[in-house]
Amino acid sequence: MNVRNCGRCGRMFNYVANEQICPNCKKKEEEQFQTVKTYIQENPNAGLKQVSDECEVPTKLIKQWIKEERLEFTSGTGIALTCESCGTPITTGRFCDKCKAAMMTGLKDTARGMAPKPALQAAPKKEDKGGMRFIRT
Ligand SMILES: [Zn+2]
Ligand SMILES: [Zn+2]
Repeated sequence: MNVRNCGRCGRMFNYVANEQICPNCKKKEEEQFQTVKTYIQENPNAGLKQVSDECEVPTKLIKQWIKEERLEFTSGTGIALTCESCGTPITTGRFCDKCKAAMMTGLKDTARGMAPKPALQAAPKKEDKGGMRFIRT
């Protein structure tokens, strides 16, 4: 039997797969996610701080969802989210499209060095307004 301490409340729980938090906290987090999701849908221009305040969800948790690519900031929110590899401002996840693409082809590319690559196509889905966008539940 696999037992570990919940990353949120510290209680011991039986875990399956890579769960970091106990079922209780998981459930609570899902509820918080739904609250944030609804709030963002109703207030598409709300920034991180506002969403956090209004939904009573820590910004840390919201940022975690963004890193997990469950949420995305739309442009214009002034959120300082940057690519962990090159520092380019990004709206979701941990790396910019360029670095993600580079990582995908990285294995082949390292052998022949940094050959210049054709410019990547701009992401077609960008909305030109502030706030956050909901990606998936
Ligand atoms: Zn817990
Ligand atoms: Zn990057």
